[in-house]
Amino acid sequence: MPSILISGGTLIDPLSDRHEACDILIADGCIRSVVAPGGAKGADEHVDASGCWVVPGLIDMHVHLREPGYEYKETVLTGTRAALAGGFTAVACMANTDPVNDNGAVTKYILEKAADADLARVYPIGAVSVGLAGERLAEIGEMREAGIVAVSDDGHPVMDSGLMRRALEYSAMFNLPVIAHEEDRGLAGDGVMHEGPTAFRLGLKGMPAAAEEAMVARDIALLERTGGRLHIAHLSTAGSVDLVRRAKARRLAVTAEAAPHHFTLTDEAIGDYDTNAKMNPPLRPRDDVIAVIEGLRDGTIDVIATDHAPHHRDAKEVEFECAAFGIVGLETALPLCLRLAREHDVAIDTIVRALSTNPARILGVRGGTLAEGSVADVTVIDPDRAWRVEPDAFQSKSRNTPFGGWAMSGAARATIVGGRVLWRAAEQPAVRGKRSLGR
Ligand SMILES: [Zn+2]
Repeated sequence: MPSILISGGTLIDPLSDRHEACDILIADGCIRSVVAPGGAKGADEHVDASGCWVVPGLIDMHVHLREPGYEYKETVLTGTRAALAGGFTAVACMANTDPVNDNGAVTKYILEKAADADLARVYPIGAVSVGLAGERLAEIGEMREAGIVAVSDDGHPVMDSGLMRRALEYSAMFNLPVIAHEEDRGLAGDGVMHEGPTAFRLGLKGMPAAAEEAMVARDIALLERTGGRLHIAHLSTAGSVDLVRRAKARRLAVTAEAAPHHFTLTDEAIGDYDTNAKMNPPLRPRDDVIAVIEGLRDGTIDVIATDHAPHHRDAKEVEFECAAFGIVGLETALPLCLRLAREHDVAIDTIVRALSTNPARILGVRGGTLAEGSVADVTVIDPDRAWRVEPDAFQSKSRNTPFGGWAMSGAARATIVGGRVLWRAAEQPAVRGKRSLGR
């Protein structure tokens, strides 16, 4: 396995409390040494990181890879290729495939597809309930054996509070977090966007913020009884941020994530019924956006995750009411995070914590640090690289993004997984197909 020297960059590793100019030598898939600039020579391969930040590989813990069942939207191969292009060395994929990932056989199938693709790491998330039906617990122990890192019915809320309680209790025995999609179906009804003045003006049915907040409050109340770990997916309202902040003050084992679209756009982005601004939870008004940003800044929100949700254009080129919820996110997340850092005074170290350190800790997976001896999953970020979002150029199979045409600043210059450079900017992935290298 070739050794790699990453030189000229600024290393940012919150876990090691480092933010300084360093060179990194990678050998045998691990971080061999972190040295003063110019202090290491003689590697087989070189990554020029001048002007760049060198950070632990980004981990997106909320992705829909769509395989098995919806390969026309995305596959493990195309999704992990999109991940690499976006600077992500690993993704965790949700269970709402067909068949649902509610048993060990499906978990193994996804992992086999990931091994065949041999690109970004893939961590399957198992369903909470059989078939995501919200009735009986899925085979959590069996899926744990097969390799899941968390459980979630994401896409659907677990409406039955008794089932959610058992999910928290049972997952605690396996030390798995329960990732909650917080949506009270009775309150959300058939709403298609945030309930408020913009929905009123557009004549569209709304989902109130309370649909999310009521469930966040319920799950925190359950967590207090059950123990275990609760991770709140795609948190989007000021009330939810406040609930999580107060739960953390009581030292409850709750963590939360926010998606780039929720800290970048308001519900007014729907504009003239743009279906690429339709997602669930919906885009919220400015006060909620500001609260989410404040939650990220003060650590109430631990993680930035994309909720990458590829859809075929047929599902989006329809009336707003009929369009599918969700957008792709893997290839636009990084510049949107850097924009957040620049425009809202969020420290880059906080961004790295939210994109790598914390997801690694919550999922209990490798990476999340560049300490000597750790796995060589590394993202080299060029913060000044200017580019324009062209959905047709995405590595993802799908194009459903509200950010088409946006001028971005910042991109991955190189994405390194297990000591192999699998992505370099303006190139195709350096490695395709199966390799015999150890993983
Ligand atoms: Zn969800």
